[in-house]
Amino acid sequence: MSRVWSIALHGGAGPIRQADYSAAEAHMAETLKIACAALEVGARAVDVAEKAIMALEESGHHIAGRGASPNALGQWELDAAIMDGETRNAGAVAALRGFRSPIRAARMVMDHSRHVMLVGKGASLFLRGRGLRRVWNPRDYYRPSVKRTIEPGELAHGTVGAVVLDGEGRLAAATSTGGLLGKMPGRVGDTPILGAGTWADERVAVSCTGQGEYFMRAAVAADISARVRYGKLGLKEAAAAALEDVHFLGGDGGLIAVDVLGNITVPFISESMKRGIASSRGEFHVAVRR
Ligand code: ASP
Repeated sequence: MSRVWSIALHGGAGPIRQADYSAAEAHMAETLKIACAALEVGARAVDVAEKAIMALEESGHHIAGRGASPNALGQWELDAAIMDGETRNAGAVAALRGFRSPIRAARMVMDHSRHVMLVGKGASLFLRGRGLRRVWNPRDYYRPSVKRTIEPGELAHGTVGAVVLDGEGRLAAATSTGGLLGKMPGRVGDTPILGAGTWADERVAVSCTGQGEYFMRAAVAADISARVRYGKLGLKEAAAAALEDVHFLGGDGGLIAVDVLGNITVPFISESMKRGIASSRGEFHVAVRR
């Protein structure tokens, strides 16, 4: 592969000030290295994004997949979406219960159904029919990665995301989340909503993290693409402007984005965001705080 590729990952914009995230950082660096090796030998963006998210979900280091926290009734309801920028194919699941990998579920919706999003019993039937790995006993499987008291009115949260440009110029985005800590049963955030928390087209790929209610109200991911397309902004300016809208509405969080030229931006207006970037130009960086 001689062409430019680039990738960014995030592990959510909700880190706690005093916590030690060195194990999460080391795991993210390892996940990035595996993704880089795949991109180097010509892997497709959408496959790299899915695999990276599966690794982050399974690690238990983030509030997604294995590390997800339960809702107010003590049930795990998880959201995920994946989008292939080349074809604009996409798959999503929302408030999914009983499966190990929400991103794999989203990919199955994309690849094996005529629909973009499945929820509830229908999602469960479809995924069981496809043999997706189940969670038999939630209390044995999930390891809530965050133990904290949530202030009344606080929207504490966590998520994992990946955005990828491959060597053939294809873009993809994938996001998976446990959502807000202690959320109401049935609550769905921005993560599985295309154009809000997840988006990829022929120009940009975006994955957001933060208080999903605000990211939906600002249509952040699609807004970045629109600002690049119609406003002729660069990726960095477009992403900063979209996040500014979230800030204006009173929300917090961050995002990762790459464009078709291989530019990467990872802005956040929260205190910190677990993130990693790498590219064929030799960039490689993992961080949590500013
Ligand atoms: N955006 C996610 C949600 O609102 C949470 C997060 O990214 O931390 O469900």
